[in-house]
Amino acid sequence: MTAKTRRIAKRPSTPKRGFSRRRGPVVPARARRIEREIVAILKRLLAEAYPSCLDKRFAAAYGEVLRLFADYQREVLAAYPHRVACGASCGVCCNHWPEDAYSFEVQLIADALRRTRPRDLGIIRAALAGDIACLDGIRRAVDEKFDSPVQREALGDIDPYDVVLSSFYQFQRPCPLLDKKGSCAIYRIRPLTCRVYVSFSPPELCNPGTILGDEARTYLLDLERDSSELFDKLHFMYDVFDGDTGFRSMLHRALEE
Ligand code: SF4
Ligand code: SF4
Repeated sequence: MTAKTRRIAKRPSTPKRGFSRRRGPVVPARARRIEREIVAILKRLLAEAYPSCLDKRFAAAYGEVLRLFADYQREVLAAYPHRVACGASCGVCCNHWPEDAYSFEVQLIADALRRTRPRDLGIIRAALAGDIACLDGIRRAVDEKFDSPVQREALGDIDPYDVVLSSFYQFQRPCPLLDKKGSCAIYRIRPLTCRVYVSFSPPELCNPGTILGDEARTYLLDLERDSSELFDKLHFMYDVFDGDTGFRSMLHRALEE
């Protein structure tokens, strides 16, 4: 059984992957202008309703969204006094199970992998299958541990699935798309769920043992609510994963087809 999630809205309401949400920078006017450009493209894609997200016109427009999103983050971060530690060659946080990926971006990534790394697909799929088995094992253990109303109550506001995700991070299973140097091999087209997490503290503090400490200063740098709703609509327009939004489990399925 693959990992299923219960989310409709794609952006996490609570931080995932063991990160803590911090009060972040104010969004400057230039960044808001960029967001309006993103919204216009998303609306256009929804109106066009291409039969497949692998349509060249969809892929090109979405590529522009990713480029604008990088500009948006740059503008927001430029207005912030602290320096971001994240970079293309930093993959400590790539040991987690990224949730809230969009169906169309996973299909685009799978398509790129099929074209550019056909010989690696077997290895990537096998690693993803291992990750899925690991997550399912953790989920069973968490379900057993919190199967009574009393135990559930002891969790308070904590979602049991957050316990699953945070436990997965402790297993330190690197994303199969990390290259030998520990960099994301698909950095240019990596999903938004990977892009929104930024850190103002040294990468070492993103390790599972230190990420929850006070020293780690991380932030979810995402777009505003209106954009997220448009992304959601686009996600459902091209959803072929039965409601799953786990990046690794979706990619496993996409590479099997
Ligand atoms: S969140 Fe941490 S581990 Fe991930 S890229 Fe940024 S500094 Fe590196
Ligand atoms: S897709 Fe890239 S950025 Fe995202 S977890 Fe995998 S290696 Fe890291």
